[in-house]
Amino acid sequence: MTPGSSGRVRVRVPATSANLGPGFDALGMALSLYNFVEAEAVPRGLEIEVAGEGSDDLPRDRSNLVWRAMERFFRAADALQPAGVRLRLDNSIPPASGLGSSAAAIVGGLLAASGLTGLTLPLETVLALAAELDGHPDNVAAALLGGMVVVVPQPGGYRWVRMLPPACLRVAVALPQLALRTEHSRKVLPDEVTLTDAAFNVGRTALLVAALAQGRFDLLATAMQDRLHQDYRLPLIPGGAAMLRTATREGWGISLSGSGPSVIALGVGESPGPAMADGFARAGVRCRVLDLLVDQRGAAVEQGTAAAPTVEGMRARGRAGARRPLIVLKYGGSSVATPELILRVAARVADTRSSGSDLVVVVSAMGDATDGLLALAGAVARLPDRRELDALVSTGEQVSVALLAMALQDRGVDAISLSGAALGIVTDGVFSRARISRVHVDNIRAALARGQVVIAAGFQGTGPDGQVTTLGRGGSDATAVVLAAALEADACEIHTDVAGVYTADPRVVAGARLLPRVSYDEMSEMSSLGAKVLQLRSVELARRHRVRLIVKSSLVSGPGTVIEEACAMGETMEGALVRAVTHTKGEVKVVLEALPDVPGVAARVFTALAQQNIQVDMIIQGRGREGRNDIAFTVAQDDSAAALAACRQVGAEVGARRVAAEEAAKVSVVGAGINQDARVAAAMFECLAELGINIEMISTSGIRVSCLIRPDRADEAVRALHARFIGPAEAS
Ligand code: ADP
Ligand code: ASP
Ligand code: MG
Repeated sequence: MTPGSSGRVRVRVPATSANLGPGFDALGMALSLYNFVEAEAVPRGLEIEVAGEGSDDLPRDRSNLVWRAMERFFRAADALQPAGVRLRLDNSIPPASGLGSSAAAIVGGLLAASGLTGLTLPLETVLALAAELDGHPDNVAAALLGGMVVVVPQPGGYRWVRMLPPACLRVAVALPQLALRTEHSRKVLPDEVTLTDAAFNVGRTALLVAALAQGRFDLLATAMQDRLHQDYRLPLIPGGAAMLRTATREGWGISLSGSGPSVIALGVGESPGPAMADGFARAGVRCRVLDLLVDQRGAAVEQGTAAAPTVEGMRARGRAGARRPLIVLKYGGSSVATPELILRVAARVADTRSSGSDLVVVVSAMGDATDGLLALAGAVARLPDRRELDALVSTGEQVSVALLAMALQDRGVDAISLSGAALGIVTDGVFSRARISRVHVDNIRAALARGQVVIAAGFQGTGPDGQVTTLGRGGSDATAVVLAAALEADACEIHTDVAGVYTADPRVVAGARLLPRVSYDEMSEMSSLGAKVLQLRSVELARRHRVRLIVKSSLVSGPGTVIEEACAMGETMEGALVRAVTHTKGEVKVVLEALPDVPGVAARVFTALAQQNIQVDMIIQGRGREGRNDIAFTVAQDDSAAALAACRQVGAEVGARRVAAEEAAKVSVVGAGINQDARVAAAMFECLAELGINIEMISTSGIRVSCLIRPDRADEAVRALHARFIGPAEAS
């Protein structure tokens, strides 16, 4: 075997809808309905086993499309073919239905051959091979890449863009019990169309892409219309035309999927699925309706290992199309601070479990256990080594996951705790603020397939060399988001000690209001300015991976706060002024006094900080007098000792008069567009002046104004700013 080759490989490929709406031959979308291809090298022969869709009629010899694609790969990659191959195909995509079953077989075969041989080809080549075998680049590109793909042929290859529609987009597919082969439905199409029809489709295709990019679901009904192929094909589908006319619903667009007979609807809110089924039923056609989501990952190869879940394991989870919902829940330290609270969380998890969902529960360290561990380190070393600090603080989560797993087992719920390493979370290896680079979900999937609730240690993962690394304060939120993305969970709920995201920290401002919806932008800004209810990284990861977050109370039920794209919120942000007042007390201001005022000094200071991975926030430099100047900046408390040490060294080298640090607090007002209105900053400064609070530094961005003040005046300042900008509590 070639290095990197594997005796066994398993590939998962999504169903796809081509010709999406008006995007004839150019727009494809991957759907959360999957075929699995498992390939194994054996001493001789070709053995093919087929389960699920198509098991009655798909060929089990060399004419099988998966095998043909594998052979095509071997040829293209100049690979030595394995002496024998055993293939197991477990299909959820119905063949000849307009859901890309042939593209899935081809992409599955190409990737399986790549996994077996350990050879890879450039993505463009794989796409071109797949398109050549299937004839439909919009199907194969979406199956390969996931999300929504715009793809066009070009001499010498394809040009494509993949985009992820908002995660809240729902997909309903009506699958009438009719077989329609693409070859047949191609024949009914005209060679030429009118300019009017061409223009109709050009405009709508652009509209569809723009609507999905911006979450303008109100446009979908128009944007999904087509005049290039549907009208010619609908006569081949009994009930289809009448159904398309009647199953309309606000916020949803409907079109044929591929060349039919399936019909696809995209939108948000109540699904038109039942109305679609009804439409077919009236024409005497039986039909199944699938409620799906957009697949975000595309085809995925999982190398076969003993621990990897088997096809049987997958079946135990239910068929992929109708898989059980998977929910990632996160309970913060405040929610598991005592044994009593752990028992309450166990009771809530058991309740959620009884609704039949698969669960991954991410847990933080109990209460302020992390702070306790950091204090221990501080008691034995002045500047504790970051590697050892991570080894120390990662134990906090290991305690809480084991306790929660025991509490669940005690209630008769099968649960297993997994540390960061066992969860398969791989980081970039930077101690105390590692970023997650990959997640190998095999262990989690295997535990879920065994019917276990997975209790996942938050805040940690292993670096490339196997060392324990932690993800920064509040990092369990990032663990939850990343696991939700990697597992394609149906929901990611962050449970904490408050009912959601408020207009200010409810522990400081009694009248703070619960915000039902917050955009990713606003939440990022709020998190970076001290609303520790969600860690900043977790918000950025959620935005990137389109994970819709819900922040809720771990104690009482309530709707909580949904964090999603502004566009999905259905409100315009224009005119919205201050949405929240935030503050942080853990700031440290470092001042380098009377530095030589010459080029290169600031560069030396900040290079020294950057080398230690210290994140600097506000920076100011004075006006300079007599060849000397002051530089001041702020850092988080955790970094202050390292920052001070670095500055003292540079200060001594360049001849600073004094290097000092003092604690400070930052108060901020956040809201879209406030930098365009100078009255906001003016009112903020006036409000602080009325309290006699001195402003030490000021910074602004598009959607916030921040002031650095003395930490002992912070609460007062927040209350006054909240009263000024947001007003008193709403009467309930
Ligand atoms: P957990 O232990 O659940 O991770 P954290 O203590 O990290 O909880 O975050 C929850 C806390 O965030 C709340 O108790 C609240 O005091 C604080 N918080 C700060 N600003 C806000 C805000 N704008 N909305 C909600 N909570 C806030
Ligand atoms: N225990 C870690 C901390 O205190 C992570 C977390 O709570 O999310 O920062
Ligand atoms: Mg937290």
